[in-house]
Amino acid sequence: MVATATNGPLALVVDDDNSSRLTMAAALRKAGFTIKQATNGEDAITLFEEKQPDLIFLDVLMPGMDGFATCREIRRRSGGEYVQILMVTGLDDTESIKKAFLAGGNDFVSKPINWEIFGHRAQYMLRSGKALKEVHLSRSFLAKTQEVAKIGNWKVNLKTNLCTISSEAASLLSLQQKDLEEITVETLLNTIIGNEKQAIYSTVESAIRKRNSFMVNFQIQLEDDSVRHIYMQGEVLPTEGGEPELLFGVVQDSTQMKQAEEEIRYLAFYDSLTGLANRTLFLDRLSQVLEHCKRKRRSFALLFMDIDHFKQINDTMGHHAGDILLKNTADTIQQCVRRSDSLAVPGSDAPENLVARHGGDEFVLILSEIDSPESSAVVARRILKAVQQKQIINSQEISITASIGISVFPEDGTDADTLYRHADTAMYHAKKLGRNNYQFFKESLNSSAVARFTLERDMKAALLNNDFILYFQPQLRISDQKIIGAEALIRWIHPEKGFIAPDQFIAIAEDCGLIVEINKWVIEAACLQSRKWREQGIPDMRIAINLSGYRLAEQNIIGILKENLELNSLDGTAIEVEVTENVLMRDTESITKTFGEIKGLGIRVALDDFGTGYSSLSYLTSFHVDTLKIDRSFIMGCTDNKKNRVIIKAIIAMGHSLGMKIVAEGIESNDHLQLLKEYDCDECQGFYFSPPVPALEFQKLIGDSKP
Ligand code: C2E
Ligand code: CA
Ligand code: CA
Repeated sequence: MVATATNGPLALVVDDDNSSRLTMAAALRKAGFTIKQATNGEDAITLFEEKQPDLIFLDVLMPGMDGFATCREIRRRSGGEYVQILMVTGLDDTESIKKAFLAGGNDFVSKPINWEIFGHRAQYMLRSGKALKEVHLSRSFLAKTQEVAKIGNWKVNLKTNLCTISSEAASLLSLQQKDLEEITVETLLNTIIGNEKQAIYSTVESAIRKRNSFMVNFQIQLEDDSVRHIYMQGEVLPTEGGEPELLFGVVQDSTQMKQAEEEIRYLAFYDSLTGLANRTLFLDRLSQVLEHCKRKRRSFALLFMDIDHFKQINDTMGHHAGDILLKNTADTIQQCVRRSDSLAVPGSDAPENLVARHGGDEFVLILSEIDSPESSAVVARRILKAVQQKQIINSQEISITASIGISVFPEDGTDADTLYRHADTAMYHAKKLGRNNYQFFKESLNSSAVARFTLERDMKAALLNNDFILYFQPQLRISDQKIIGAEALIRWIHPEKGFIAPDQFIAIAEDCGLIVEINKWVIEAACLQSRKWREQGIPDMRIAINLSGYRLAEQNIIGILKENLELNSLDGTAIEVEVTENVLMRDTESITKTFGEIKGLGIRVALDDFGTGYSSLSYLTSFHVDTLKIDRSFIMGCTDNKKNRVIIKAIIAMGHSLGMKIVAEGIESNDHLQLLKEYDCDECQGFYFSPPVPALEFQKLIGDSKP
């Protein structure tokens, strides 16, 4: 081993021939290199490892380990990939030149060497060696950067449509080893979840086909079932003339960005204290609801609520207590609004109700689907009652009241601004009237709301005083027109207002929950009547009872039915239960169960007003109803209206095929009767035979109809 030293780039000269090695060293030294020398392959490798030279000049012909083997060895060592190796071969020895390249040499020089340019050549090699190293470094730097930034890259060869993909991209896309064997664009999109998969695939595929750039966002499922958001971008690399050959793309984990977006969205649209919608979201939703209700010609209400004397509470108990109070109030309001959801029309596409905080102690509500202005008064009353519940804050018991103003679309305004102002005005009116109450903007609505709640109060009294009475309408078998049953229909004999029809109070009873009591009263009265008739020797007169389906499953209907049958020694065939069709839409599972239990008592179940609601055939089969009552609107004018006749005929045929009995209601003429007879309807009822009448009169009808 011969070693010499000055400063400068380090060259290692390896040659067993002394004179040629020394000449080479001298020429290099002249060109500014520092020199190390070795006379054989083994020494060269040792020196390489110790000194990490920038350039190696390697004679191919040496005893022992030749230049080719030495070159291969060096390339295998760490740092050996980048060092520039110049192989020194014999003149025109093309075989050696080829072997030199195969062994990993960067260049070759043939003996005899032109010393004039040898030094320059070394400088050139040095420079390209540095460039190579930089390229490699920046490549691994890029890979590292991408790994840190959670970015991966991929390329599509546009000629073959095959992809190459960085390991980071494969791991970001959660691709399995088996996916990576022959990668196509499809492979890249393999792990997308949800129904957007097809759409994304089409976008990417069409961009590639048309040589366009693209950007897509999607979600993939990871092995632990969590979801990762991915941003993917592809760009066609420009070529000078000719067809582009490469589409280059990146994939990036955008999960954190999505989360941040969510958070920003939350901060932008929600009130951080209560979690309610803030003013921005409220205004946005208000315009949506306005649009919806204009299009669908529906009504909605805007409620403005303000806590009474909040400032006083805040001042005496402190801001922290005030905050808790606001938060509790927000929760209470939301619960009250949610409870009214069950009043919404089944299958409705109306926007949801919304509760927002407007800053301070002001809350606003959108009740997006109301049947009448009074239903918004129901919610207002519920809220006023609920906020009064005692609450303990900082170990102090307090209770608050509030004032609410209501404006109704379209009566009180057809744009957001007007409705808003009017609800506000109504709220101040409520304050003026002594707080702890609600006011509609329109005075007439206040009086109709008052009337409504007066009726509610009177209904409670009527239940206690037994001011209700059942009327009976005969139901006849069409084949022989014999009375075989009666439908029991409730009437209210109001002490001041006189006779009130069910259409005027059943809906209100449902609204305020009194319907539970009414259902119970009707069952008791009908069962009692059935026993009386039996005792009078009128056998087998089945009585059909109308049960409001509102929260049917939550009432103790089965218990009440059972108790009253037993009390009057009746079996289930003595009565039939009529439930309107839209009940089925509400809570399918519990209704099915309730129907099953009713049938378990031997009581038949009839579907009332059939054809007006949302029932489909599949519904009917799953609910196992025994009887269909064709709604009277189809019978009305059926003799002139072909469409009605087609519907009636279809309902009868369909019902029969499902083994159901068909009853037509609202028969007002002999023409109606003849038509239904022709269509093979089973039973009927209507003014043609008799309106609903009191029990005593009904008995007379039976007497008359006896053959
Ligand atoms: P519904 O169950 O469809 O009752 C039939 C209604 O049609 C009765 O009105 C009856 O008087 C009327 N009607 C009968 N025949 C004819 C006819 O030929 N032509 C015309 N135009 N109408 C006829 P009502 O008694 O006023 O009852 C109205 C609705 O109130 C009932 O409709 C039912 O939904 C409800 N209802 C009545 N009684 C009760 C009850 O005890 N409980 C419950 N939950 N609802 C009841
Ligand atoms: Ca009925
Ligand atoms: Ca009916």
